[in-house]
Amino acid sequence: MATIFAGGTILTVNAADETVRADLRIEGKLISAVGPAGTLDRPGDHVVDCADTLIMPGLVNVHTHAGTAFFRGLADDKPREFWSAYAVPGQERFTVDDYVRSAGAAAAEFLLHGTTCIADRLGFMDRIAPALEASGIRAVVGHTLSDAKGPADWATAERVIERFGTNPERRVHAGLAPHALDSCSDALLTECARRSAAQGCRIFIHVAQSEAEVAAIRVRGYGGALDCLVRNGLATPTTVAAHGIYLTDEEIEAWPRHGVPIAHCPASNLKIEARTLAIHRLIGKVPIGLGTDWTVTNNAMDMLSEARLAALVGKMLADDPTVLTVRQMLRMLTIDGARALGLGHMIGSVEAGKRADLLVLDLNRLDSTPHHDFGSNVIYAMGARAVRDVWVDGECLVQRGRLTRGDEATLAQNNRTLGSPRQ
Ligand SMILES: [Zn+2]
Repeated sequence: MATIFAGGTILTVNAADETVRADLRIEGKLISAVGPAGTLDRPGDHVVDCADTLIMPGLVNVHTHAGTAFFRGLADDKPREFWSAYAVPGQERFTVDDYVRSAGAAAAEFLLHGTTCIADRLGFMDRIAPALEASGIRAVVGHTLSDAKGPADWATAERVIERFGTNPERRVHAGLAPHALDSCSDALLTECARRSAAQGCRIFIHVAQSEAEVAAIRVRGYGGALDCLVRNGLATPTTVAAHGIYLTDEEIEAWPRHGVPIAHCPASNLKIEARTLAIHRLIGKVPIGLGTDWTVTNNAMDMLSEARLAALVGKMLADDPTVLTVRQMLRMLTIDGARALGLGHMIGSVEAGKRADLLVLDLNRLDSTPHHDFGSNVIYAMGARAVRDVWVDGECLVQRGRLTRGDEATLAQNNRTLGSPRQ
């Protein structure tokens, strides 16, 4: 039995950025056909009424820390120095079990806001990743590595890779996640490069996130963050660099030669450093996806608001309102994020042969109307409230605004009781 999405409008985000009135046929995990309304269903098929909806690829969030959902609201309006230790007052009361529950709550929140795929990293990933898997969300996961923790971290990272594998065909699969250029020695960074090449997995790392980080890299004899990536074998299309706030003009100029994908986190960047990367200089040259980062530095898990912020702040930085177009932002939310994660062949657009990772948006809302330009509405007006259904791998995970694998009210109650101060 197949599932038919009938009567909707599809924002395909294909190579030609076509928007079409068409039905979708989903068989198993895959979109098997896109065709004229009423032509794809056969007796016995399950038909989903998509009249007055916009169907688009699920959103791809390329930099998250789902295990920190309980941290939300612990630190706002702090000076730059505050963030260097990654120590948020109050976080010490959380146990590993709390991180696991946090991850489940975050995955649900991502799904309810239209995100179908995340690149997630933190410590305790051997415990967190199963919670992400239970939610049904697509995820590439990495256990954070740094010199401070040493061999124990490698053992955990290896367990995660053994359990989930590095094959992107799997809904949850593993990468390597060295923490940052200043908290990882050259030996650790080169070992990550070696293992990434041997195992065919991606590397996820924070890059040029603070002035202190760049200063520490220079003390080690590097010209800057890019030089450090290059000389440790990490300046490749399989490394995803998050933030890039303190990349110099020269580094931005040279960056495309190495093809390193960027995880752009505008809300987090602005909240912790009051500045962000000028992505108009890199767009179209390397894959750029959007990331919501962790809940103390953003604090939302809402990719549609992230895209709007990225576009508007990016225009300001460029001093040019014509840059970062609606079309480019739609691609950043979907196919470009997928490409950054090495998943562009599987997800990120609505096309026959791709996985059925789909978002169904309600077009009958005040903020969804009128319909002069669907993409413009998505980037600048609709917001996550318009999310009706969310599918991953042909499975419905949000139906009419409700989770199918969990209960939002129960998760919110957990956030309140377990995430709040304890005696
Ligand atoms: Zn981060």
